[in-house]
Amino acid sequence: MHDLVVRRGTVVDGTGREAFEADVAVDGGTITAVGEVAARGRREIDARNLLVAPGWVDVHTHYDGQVTWDPLLSPSSWHGVTTLVMGNCGVGFAPVRRGQEAFLIELMEGVEDIPGTALHEGIEWQWESFPEYLDVLAAKKRVLDVAAQVPHCAIRAYVLGDRAHDVEVSDAEISEMSRLTVEALRAGAIGFTTSRTILHRSRHGLVPGTSSTPAELLGIGRALGEAGHGVFEMVSDLQGQEPDLAWMKEFASTTGRPITFAIAQTFVQPTAWRDTLALVDGLYEKGLQIVPQVACRPTGMLYGLQSSFHPFILYPTYRDELATLPLAERVARMRNPEVRARILAEELDTQDPIVRLLLTNWSQMFPFGDPPDYEPPAERSIAALASQTGRRPEEIAYDRMLENGGRHFIFAPLANYLDYDFDVLREMMLHPRTVLGLSDGGAHCGLICDASMPTFLLTHWARDRKRGERIPLEQAVRLQTQNTARVYGLTDRGAIEPGKKADLNVIDFDALRLHTPEMVFDLPAGGRRLVQHVDGYRATVVAGEVTFEGGEPTGALPGALVRAR
Ligand SMILES: [Zn+2]
Repeated sequence: MHDLVVRRGTVVDGTGREAFEADVAVDGGTITAVGEVAARGRREIDARNLLVAPGWVDVHTHYDGQVTWDPLLSPSSWHGVTTLVMGNCGVGFAPVRRGQEAFLIELMEGVEDIPGTALHEGIEWQWESFPEYLDVLAAKKRVLDVAAQVPHCAIRAYVLGDRAHDVEVSDAEISEMSRLTVEALRAGAIGFTTSRTILHRSRHGLVPGTSSTPAELLGIGRALGEAGHGVFEMVSDLQGQEPDLAWMKEFASTTGRPITFAIAQTFVQPTAWRDTLALVDGLYEKGLQIVPQVACRPTGMLYGLQSSFHPFILYPTYRDELATLPLAERVARMRNPEVRARILAEELDTQDPIVRLLLTNWSQMFPFGDPPDYEPPAERSIAALASQTGRRPEEIAYDRMLENGGRHFIFAPLANYLDYDFDVLREMMLHPRTVLGLSDGGAHCGLICDASMPTFLLTHWARDRKRGERIPLEQAVRLQTQNTARVYGLTDRGAIEPGKKADLNVIDFDALRLHTPEMVFDLPAGGRRLVQHVDGYRATVVAGEVTFEGGEPTGALPGALVRAR
């Protein structure tokens, strides 16, 4: 008798091996047999005509606050994620000194667009040190496994206090930051993270550590070597050029630890991602592990009347008279022909060049339907629709956003879509040195909802894509199971093999379907967040227990804190 047998499914085992029909037996939270299983299970799942895959391992999320109050960790858990890594991009909530809580919240709110009011109300600060934070996480029950990284911003605030933003720091301060990092890693942190991008700002400016010197980064980096584990993650503007390269090489060669950072095809440097991949290939030959993180679709800004950003948000009439009205009232006012004419006669009231570009880049904005099309052709852009119909793009955007009671979104890919198809993404995803990341689960609540990327990898890349080559299902599954798990040393999971952790997804592949995203107001203090529902996950299993069945949580909370050792 086994604890659980998933019977006669089509197993896509996460290793890239061709799909095969088999039973999967589970005992004590571990896979014990894959093949023909004669003995019955105390619990059986009939998986005929269904896929059986490992649970998804999502390495780029920002659930650091939500993890303390929400055992369900949606929307990632709805999408088959069974392990998530948080604490990315240098922001997080430990270590923290009394009185610094608000500062850390402001950084998170500024960078990741997670409502500060929700974080203030949701988080009970029961820790000071990073090990204490891990102990608090370990004591709480949840639906999936979480792993935490130690964020540079918090370390800097802890050591430097009011000088957290200073570039110059003393050797003694670097030693102290390094000591705290070793302490966090020894307690089980799975990595150290920082920000090197001019895009990540809070109301205090660039986040602490953005301009840190190589001496500081290497000083802290050596902690990873000392602890003998951990990934160095950063969000970086590095796209094939040099400024960070010297210390990265030194870090990778002296510590042997991997560095990972996101790359994308950007407006500014549309081919630099290719240079970065070539560079990384060269370093790999020399034994240095530099692992670019890539997405499986463009980072999707969703402009709508409920979003934190949309084309009219800085039009004077909208900003001054309408912005704070309840949605229904706002929609009614905006439908009024006189108001409509007045707004459309105005202009964006800002000189910020980035904001102006993002809010008027009509050739990179697309009305978003249901089901949502994440790979729309150029002729469906708002610019194209405008020239096809002889209207102004502003009119089209205005009228579309009012549809569906003001809930219609305009899809504005932030990167990776200059060619109007996903061939660039495909090349990045299949490059042997990259890892899939960037769902940003738990973050960008008012603008982006990419926590569904794990599902999209199957629906779009392995099944529906028509505008270019697809990715074989076996390979797609490996990208977000064995591959993601390995980068973080999580070799106990990510494949369906005897001895591995029993984290599984049982999927009706033909029925797997993403709904269009929607804004809900269910964070603490009524905070808003975008979520996206899905059909087709028949069951999700974590440590041998069924956590979701037919899309509904079962109430089982077998998730644990993963401590790196
Ligand atoms: Zn991030």
